Amino acid sequence: MSKGAARKGILVIISAASGAGKSTIIKRVMADDPNCVFAVSHTTRPPRPNEVDGKDYYFINDQDFDDMVKADAFAEWAVVHGNRYGTSFAEIERITAQENDVIFEIDFQGGRALMRRFPEAATIFLLPPSLAEVKQRLIDRGTDTDEVIARRMEQARIEIATAGEYRYLVFNDDLDEAVAEVQAILRAERLRSIRFPDKIRELVAEP
Ligand code: ADP
Ligand code: 5GP
Repeated sequence: MSKGAARKGILVIISAASGAGKSTIIKRVMADDPNCVFAVSHTTRPPRPNEVDGKDYYFINDQDFDDMVKADAFAEWAVVHGNRYGTSFAEIERITAQENDVIFEIDFQGGRALMRRFPEAATIFLLPPSLAEVKQRLIDRGTDTDEVIARRMEQARIEIATAGEYRYLVFNDDLDEAVAEVQAILRAERLRSIRFPDKIRELVAEP
């Protein structure tokens, strides 16, 4: 991209059934691209052993979540697998103020809400090779009980049924390929004409 073509940061909404590989793919994409910043959600879910408060999520209790809902602090929030998750306006502003691209890793309810609010967002749904593979990956990940895995599998079918609402589908069979595809989508999305309103006006107005 030429230096003269300053662009606004883009909003990237990534959804998938639990266990489809969202976190893994997003971490890889962000490690290669300092312009991509992860929108840290608030959740009432307890942290998993490897998770860091303020990095993976802002872990808060029910009372604090209630207070944020009442204060209209969320651009969207939803109940997922029995816990509440939400994207705060403050988090979106924190990232867009730095002119970075924002990655939202959210469920389909949040995806729908943010698509309505930000129709110019890039939207990606990650699909697993099969539901059987999702179950195996969740078992291998070793972070959820059998009961939680069963609940997540029930939900997976509902989530996958909404994939057609997203602009892009990425099939996470081979991890390297899926990462490369997300990177290719981001490259193309950054070049959409709507990202450069000023540049077009400037060129047209040039004497
Ligand atoms: P999500 O964030 O969608 O719940 P994760 O990124 O935690 O899913 O992935 C679930 C598990 O599947 C992890 O243990 C991860 O290492 C593994 N995984 C992700 N993508 C692949 C892939 N393409 N092939 C095999 N295992 C994968
Ligand atoms: P996990 O508990 O595995 O981290 O996430 C469970 C689900 O909640 C995933 O589908 C994840 O994308 C979704 N999620 C995480 N943050 C948010 C959020 O801020 N809003 C919504 N609607 N869903 C979220």
